[in-house]
Amino acid sequence: MGRYVYDFAEGGKDQKDLLGGKGANLAEMTRLGLPVPPGFTITTDACRVYLAEGHEPEGLAEEVDRHLARLEERMGRRLGNPDDPLLVSVRSGAKFSMPGMMDTVLNIGLGDHSVEGLIRQSGGNERFAWDSYRRLLSMFGQTVLGLGSHDFEQELDRLKDERGASSDLDLTAEDLRGLVKTYQGLVREHSGRDFPQDPREQLGLAIRAVFDSWNTERATIYRRRERIPADLGTAVNVGAMVFGNGGADSGTGVAFTRDPATGAQGVYGDYLQNAQGEDVVAGIRNTVPLHDLETIDKACYDELLGIMATLERHYRDLCDIEFTIEHGTLWMLQTRVGKRTAQAAFRIASELVDEGLIDLDEALQRVNGAQLATLMFPRFDDRHERHLLGTGMNASPGAAVGRAVFDSHTAAEWAERGEDVILVRRETNPDDLKGMVAARGILTSRGGKTSHAAVVARGMGRTCVCGAESLDVDVRARRFTCADGTVVSEGDVISIDGTTGDIFAGEVPVMDSLVVRHFEGDTTADDETVRAVARLMEHADRTRRMEVRANADTPDDAARARRFGAQGIGLCRTEHMFLGDRRELVEHLIIAETHEEQEAALEALLPRQREDFIGILEAMDGLPVTVRLIDPPLHEFLPDLTDLAVLVAHEDDAGNPDSRHHRLLEAVKRMHEQNPMLGLRGVRLGIALPGLFAMQTRAVLEAAAARLEAGGDPRPEIMVPLVASAEEFEIVRAEVERVAAEVQDAAGREIPYTVGTMIELPRAVLTADRIAATAEFFSFGTNDLTQMTWGFSRDDVESSFFSTYLEKGVFGVSPFETLDVDGVGALVRYAAQRGRAARPDLHLGVCGEHGGDPESIHFFEGVGLDYVSCSPFRVPIARLEAARAVPR
Ligand code: PEP
Ligand code: MG
Repeated sequence: MGRYVYDFAEGGKDQKDLLGGKGANLAEMTRLGLPVPPGFTITTDACRVYLAEGHEPEGLAEEVDRHLARLEERMGRRLGNPDDPLLVSVRSGAKFSMPGMMDTVLNIGLGDHSVEGLIRQSGGNERFAWDSYRRLLSMFGQTVLGLGSHDFEQELDRLKDERGASSDLDLTAEDLRGLVKTYQGLVREHSGRDFPQDPREQLGLAIRAVFDSWNTERATIYRRRERIPADLGTAVNVGAMVFGNGGADSGTGVAFTRDPATGAQGVYGDYLQNAQGEDVVAGIRNTVPLHDLETIDKACYDELLGIMATLERHYRDLCDIEFTIEHGTLWMLQTRVGKRTAQAAFRIASELVDEGLIDLDEALQRVNGAQLATLMFPRFDDRHERHLLGTGMNASPGAAVGRAVFDSHTAAEWAERGEDVILVRRETNPDDLKGMVAARGILTSRGGKTSHAAVVARGMGRTCVCGAESLDVDVRARRFTCADGTVVSEGDVISIDGTTGDIFAGEVPVMDSLVVRHFEGDTTADDETVRAVARLMEHADRTRRMEVRANADTPDDAARARRFGAQGIGLCRTEHMFLGDRRELVEHLIIAETHEEQEAALEALLPRQREDFIGILEAMDGLPVTVRLIDPPLHEFLPDLTDLAVLVAHEDDAGNPDSRHHRLLEAVKRMHEQNPMLGLRGVRLGIALPGLFAMQTRAVLEAAAARLEAGGDPRPEIMVPLVASAEEFEIVRAEVERVAAEVQDAAGREIPYTVGTMIELPRAVLTADRIAATAEFFSFGTNDLTQMTWGFSRDDVESSFFSTYLEKGVFGVSPFETLDVDGVGALVRYAAQRGRAARPDLHLGVCGEHGGDPESIHFFEGVGLDYVSCSPFRVPIARLEAARAVPR
């Protein structure tokens, strides 16, 4: 039998796997000697057993009894004792923070008798005792017995209306006692049982309810989004209650050691007098800024600031904190390394280096590519005229435009049919998660930067403006009214700026981010975030082993990629050069029936291709440019078979036949394939249509000769697509060498070039050693390799059954987005090893979409690739992630 319960005094911050984040950090604060109400943690092991077997692990109840007895002894009170009750809180706490997703029950131990004991214990504070009891009933009713929050809220609102009370603080002890009766009735009516009066039974049920809350719909959605494994389970923390709702000298709050939105140093947080835990996060009443606590209770404020400084030094990072003040005594209820915006992440990491708390290597681990991507998002164009509807708190940055919707369901439904929506609520609660995921942005009229909306939006990287109090949001009527009288109804377009907190009518145009402008070389793009990004990127470039190249097909893209830090082109897809006005030339090639016609068609294409390559080699002067010989099936360049057949039939009927159309129709019929992705493409095309690859090779090398002539430093690499066998590669390589010899002869000089292959087919992987005997480099085409390994059509599956696969957990993310390490990754590793065994200096890279995906980049570092290649916009992200992936 294992051990399932640990006192707070027994653990530490590194035991998150076992004790969950909250439990591990409560233990750490206890060890640091900070004022933490004593208690114990039931481990995630216990939860996993419970979830797997459907009942608590054997011996757990006895272990809880023993730890509870110790807690009672320490507190000098017994749980639920009618004369002098000990009350406890029961809180969830998984390894990874899932704010608001799982359940908490406070004031466990209260009943019809012990409430009287609590009145005596609190020196006759009846209001406090009844307030605590009604809170227990509501939390227990929702969490343990499955009642809806609205049932309780409705009764509370009704009572407030009857009494003309604007806030729950205006209700008297008598009112709250009546509310307790009403709530007990609700419990009986909806759950078919009385609220349990036995305190130990309450505790056992609450623990089980917290275990169960791991699998609620909202927790499941959140985990999927955040890629938190579904099998971790949650720990349960049972702690002695301290009360923030005992009067004006009590209260509860949330604090950040730095601003989680901007990263600026200072005191940030919210405080709510005479209130209990969840009130702050739920946005029930409006909080005051934490600064105000200095006037309310200076001693506690100073002590809190001291603790915040201790925690920041100890964790060497931004911490967020929940605390309660009970009659002038400060208690720490939680701390953790706080979630932050992308902007704050870079600034904090850089400033912690300045403060000597971390070094630059550590700073790189404190930021990531997804955050950098967020900073590269566009912002609103402030030169454009705008109608300001109001301003709220800048809770999560970005610029979001969409139609206003007023409930989570509508948000999800409209988003599903392709609409951009902004979810507008008075405040959000965990039930709104689905809508928050679906929306472009979130706007609330109540709640601070630590409200549910703000915390969740920041975590997801969603734009959010919260606490816009000048907006009167009427969710039932599906509209909000602004201070100037403007009414915004469901479906109206609004624009919200999560960086400034501004809310605008209609669609405001967006512009490039400052960080992008900085990457583009604009020296006027400068602020703390830009400077922090620049500093960390410089360090990333010094640290990383892998090079970063770009996938680019035009001189403009190549130049931009170079400004973004690309160290060459890893994939120039030449088929893109056969579109537009060149389509006709390709048609000539396809319908050519004689050798002469074919030669003439290729001859016409040659100078155009040469010009393309000159431009690209010039933009990437001095850096490698991997030119891939044409890949997709030629029929993609031809007219649609049916359209063409109809055209020809019409012309024939009209007695006006066009022989070119006839020939084209014949060619299209001839080339029609059931499975073009498995058909005549890549190297197969090069072998089947003699002269095509030779023309492209000539164009590349003549372009290089021209660049050399102009004093440039061209470094072309010729790459063969879709190779499955060494024989295929060998045929093309011999052809390339033949052409190269001709071009070098004509130019009268040596032209530097290499020849290599893409690895996109399982057969190429399995025979990598043979291919590497003559190939100088491999570039993994992980798009096709994923398609060919899974047997998934890359053009179809993502929009057909992938959502079901994701839902059923076949995979957590599309394998076209993040490399399937177990399957496709194993092939990459195998080919790299076999290839290098045959040719130790074999150069290895990846140019599929995965080359720009942070998680996949870490895998490629582990396999020992020389470079990753990705779209120009993702080059900075890849530079950062390649550095973060280097083992420390
Ligand atoms: C690949 O298959 O990964 C690749 C880069 O080639 P394309 O996407 O052009 O097929
Ligand atoms: Mg491919």
